[in-house]
Amino acid sequence: MKIVEIKAYPTSFPVPSGGPRLGIGQAVKRDAVVVKVVTEDGIVGWGESHHGRAHTAVAKLIETTLSSLILGMDAADVSGVWAKIYKFQLGSHGMGAATALAMSGIDMALWDIRGKAAGWPLYRLLGGSARPIPAYAGGVALGYQPPEQLVEEARPHVEAGYRAVKLRVGDTVRDDIARMEAVRKAFGGDLTILTDANTGYRVDDVRRVMPAMDALDIGWLEEPFPAHDHFSYVQAKGFGRTPLAAGENHYTRFEFTRVLEDRVITVWQPDLSKCGGITEALRIAAMASAYKIPVHPHSSMTGINQAASIHFLAAIDNGGYFEADVSKGNKFRDELCSEPWRIGTDGCVRPLEKPGIGVEMDEGFLQAHPAIEGPGYV
Ligand SMILES: [Mg+2]
Repeated sequence: MKIVEIKAYPTSFPVPSGGPRLGIGQAVKRDAVVVKVVTEDGIVGWGESHHGRAHTAVAKLIETTLSSLILGMDAADVSGVWAKIYKFQLGSHGMGAATALAMSGIDMALWDIRGKAAGWPLYRLLGGSARPIPAYAGGVALGYQPPEQLVEEARPHVEAGYRAVKLRVGDTVRDDIARMEAVRKAFGGDLTILTDANTGYRVDDVRRVMPAMDALDIGWLEEPFPAHDHFSYVQAKGFGRTPLAAGENHYTRFEFTRVLEDRVITVWQPDLSKCGGITEALRIAAMASAYKIPVHPHSSMTGINQAASIHFLAAIDNGGYFEADVSKGNKFRDELCSEPWRIGTDGCVRPLEKPGIGVEMDEGFLQAHPAIEGPGYV
């Protein structure tokens, strides 16, 4: 089980017609970092590091500094690998995002190896069961567009079984309210409507939008502000009863301690490819569980992360929704690997049954889709 090889593949594909417009801009390409770890006895594990808008740099960090730290370690020793990276990188050089992103993909690959070595699907290794996991229609989708078009984009998802959708807000407050009202009117009170501002709001915007969100029974308002903007979150707390959600840009359990202390963000969304991996997401979920805080993990780009997120949800006691990436033409979900999940008519997904994370990888895809430099959103 000794780790003998660590490879990181930065990969991209263009979105020629332009993707939906969100609070972080308009998607022009999609990026990902795929991590491959090989053991001495030939077990291959796959993981994903979120690209962090610096996919080639994240891949380089994995193949240089982090790789030199952990080559030769026992692949089953996920806590030991985590502790070593913490000692030499996170602890001693600060909680910068790059190391957390890079180590997340390695940790995910090690869990894939652990499952394959044991012959168990990941959810079982984590102590869970193959239970149905409710999913919402999210990902890079349902963005800023006229309300009628937004309703038509949402319709096939609702018809496919989704009982929850996530709309993008953080545009003008007036347009945001018009979009939320249109979707509520079109689909009625049984549809759960979630919202994500992608840090696009100011404090005053939240003061103005919150009465409408309360009246429309919005499930949560995600990331009105940047993750580090603690003071704005505290100010926004009293504006209404719609829960504030965040976590996809909080790195490691140490950054979630402040979230806990502030008692403002009551829906947690760690991303398994950002927060420090599955090992760290389990710790974050346990912290949240003690305070009865639900965990709805943010999904990254590839089917590897998405399948792993479902295993994770099937194994924690405070898990909520799976974020189903319903973006059109995501090759990292549809072509890079075998089918990571499928929505059921009950609005739920189920964890895969093959050992490990359970997706088969097409390595030819990685050769055919090398990294494209530059920003993914403009
Ligand atoms: Mg988000």
